[in-house]
Amino acid sequence: MTGANERPGRRVEPDRIAIIGAGHVGATTAFALMLRALVHEIVLVDRNRALAEAEAADLSDANALARPARVWAGDYADAARARIAILTAGGATHGAQDRLSVAADSAVIVADCVEGLIQAGFSGILLVAANPVDLMTLVALKRSGLPASRVIGTGTLLDTSRLKQTLSEALGVAPASIEGYVLGEHGNSEVAAFSTVRIGGQPLDRFCKDADRPDLDAMSTEVRDAGYAIVEGKGYTSFGVATAIVRICEAILRDERAVLPVSTLLTGEYGLSGLCLSLPCVLGAEGVHRILTPDLEPPEQAALAASAKILRTAFAAIPVRATAD
Ligand code: NAD
Repeated sequence: MTGANERPGRRVEPDRIAIIGAGHVGATTAFALMLRALVHEIVLVDRNRALAEAEAADLSDANALARPARVWAGDYADAARARIAILTAGGATHGAQDRLSVAADSAVIVADCVEGLIQAGFSGILLVAANPVDLMTLVALKRSGLPASRVIGTGTLLDTSRLKQTLSEALGVAPASIEGYVLGEHGNSEVAAFSTVRIGGQPLDRFCKDADRPDLDAMSTEVRDAGYAIVEGKGYTSFGVATAIVRICEAILRDERAVLPVSTLLTGEYGLSGLCLSLPCVLGAEGVHRILTPDLEPPEQAALAASAKILRTAFAAIPVRATAD
């Protein structure tokens, strides 16, 4: 259904999700949301209106065959009433290009989108996927004026999923049965915190016999660079991140209180504050209910501090207009 604009208002439609940016990530997220039947209304907003309309029409074609949802190309007035607005509009990277290199371009786009949402009266939860996601989460937080608990970045949920998949292949255990986290930046300075890994309650050291202990350095490099390899091959990534986005939406919409690593504003955790990066968070109806601080090995904690330093420096280099409160 297209062209169903509505007047802005503070009323939140509990069954509506807005996706700002109907490109690869946005359209795949809409598809994944439909298949999961999480909401009945999905509004796509894109500066390329024709693209949003085409994606909405294509997705609507699945309605008779899947669990039906009303999907349409709308504007910020439609998006303002959504329970969750997912921000996927941002600068794209190529090959092994560092996500931080598109920070300035992305920040302008994210600031524009957030302004559009807030001016239209948005008061829901803002879920940021645009890269570099930790910096864009902070831009969105500052520009929106929303409480920190309601501005969330997809962060290292995707990297954590990649880590579990890699461990699963090495250890012969289902990825969903492995606990463990990638923390810090979603990017080159991310920290695969192997000390947090548990399989059936057992740490990695106890689970692995000496002979089959995996090469953890090689594994963290593989996880860190996985996105680059995919972008090299197909030009973008979409399925992994879309599934991570949907998982976060599910935790919020169902008030699950699920523990997921997402990017959030730090307020003293590990001595860090004033920046967004990923730590395990309890996610529910209000967004981030609690930030958890697992015991880390000293080198992991040092790597987390180094990751925070890199993000702080990169944020300071973004032109002021995009980052101002
Ligand atoms: P894309 O270029 O296919 O889509 C971006 C869309 O945003 C385009 O359709 C464009 O028209 C729209 N857009 C740009 N500026 C806009 C504005 N001001 N208002 C409204 N719409 C606007 O890119 P993509 O592959 O979908 O990636 C989107 C973002 O997601 C990128 O920043 C990418 O790096 C990021 N990403 C993040 C993760 C993650 O784990 N967080 C994973 C993959 C991609």
